[in-house]
Amino acid sequence: MSGRKRNISRRNFIKTAGAAGLGTALATLSPVAPALGSNTGRTAEPMTVPTRPFGKTGVDVSMLALGGELSASDLLVFKQAFKMGVTYWDTADSYGWGKNEKAIGKYFAKFPRDRANVFLVSKAGTSDPQKLTEKLNTSLQRMNTSHIDLYFIHYVSNVEKELTDEVRAWAAKAKADGKIRFFGFSAHKNMANSLLAAAKLGWIDGIMMSYNYRLMVTENMKRAVDACAGAGIGLTAMKTQANFSANFYASIGSKTDEALKMTENFISKGYTAEQAKLKAVWENPKIASICSAMPNMTILQANVAAALNKTKISGNDKLRLDQYARHTAPGYCTGCADICESAVDFDIPISDLMRCAMYHHSYGDREKALALFNALPPDIKKNIFKADYTQAEKYCPQKIQIGKVLQQTCEDLQRRA
Ligand code: SF4
Repeated sequence: MSGRKRNISRRNFIKTAGAAGLGTALATLSPVAPALGSNTGRTAEPMTVPTRPFGKTGVDVSMLALGGELSASDLLVFKQAFKMGVTYWDTADSYGWGKNEKAIGKYFAKFPRDRANVFLVSKAGTSDPQKLTEKLNTSLQRMNTSHIDLYFIHYVSNVEKELTDEVRAWAAKAKADGKIRFFGFSAHKNMANSLLAAAKLGWIDGIMMSYNYRLMVTENMKRAVDACAGAGIGLTAMKTQANFSANFYASIGSKTDEALKMTENFISKGYTAEQAKLKAVWENPKIASICSAMPNMTILQANVAAALNKTKISGNDKLRLDQYARHTAPGYCTGCADICESAVDFDIPISDLMRCAMYHHSYGDREKALALFNALPPDIKKNIFKADYTQAEKYCPQKIQIGKVLQQTCEDLQRRA
């Protein structure tokens, strides 16, 4: 690409997706507005998020999926998402204790014709067929729909144990009954192993897994994604921001100055780091969609702008993300629970607790962190303070100060609960 062309592309990206230009760029965003950066003298093209094939399902899904926990007062966000082509909607029976599913149900009651154009995903955190049936029926009722397009078992970390022949039979019956179209699972830890195992099963239609600029470069994850793509499994990335809290990690002695400088540098390029992180993931065509929590119009529009912009992030930007990932590694748990949990005498779900820390310190979602933390048995909470994490810290590929992170997170959640 010539220097001039590169500059033009950069400017267009800034206009479409940049932090400074975002407000004005998105003020014009509507389903009939021409895409910014396109030839405005030609026929206006609908400004809708592009789609990608979802594995071998035969369905094309929007490359941006509406996730997170919206409530009934957020119908405008649902409607705008729909209008912008964000028609893959992700929820779970547990999100907001059913609040999110009820909000979707309210939307479909108000706009029943939209249901046919939404690719609806929900999840249940069980492998027990009877409980799956109960939870599926509840979700259908809450969402005011006769079927769910893709139904997940939530938070699978051991495919062999959780995706049993009974579950396979259950999924086949639910499909035959017309209650679900496709079946799969979500994976927050041991992702690579779970994906590799799922690729061999032959009956998994889709997987949503943690996947971002930190994880996508590891050999394990590359192999796992390739295996699933080869097996025709549709893949959705989540946790694409892979944030870390500089303040928190500084408080336990991690060096964050360099990381902060890198963030500033990134922002100075003219677009937000958040948008660049999305684009880095979309550059892998094997990822059908990114599921993103979009609790308000600002985030929705920023993400849509990033999806619409066709400029590829530069090699330097990728390098910057890579450097940022390396310098902030001790502030991001990659979910390889088998490594650290087997190196501690007590039975402590380190990876789950790291997730609490992430929600609390990085996402500022104390309610979610507390919900996860409070679900832990009391003896596990006590043992967190007794355990010796020396070996776990030695083996941790991210070099996380596991003991300090867990203890401070637990103290904080218990003190303020
Ligand atoms: S604490 Fe370290 S070893 Fe344990 S799951 Fe997280 S990244 Fe992996």
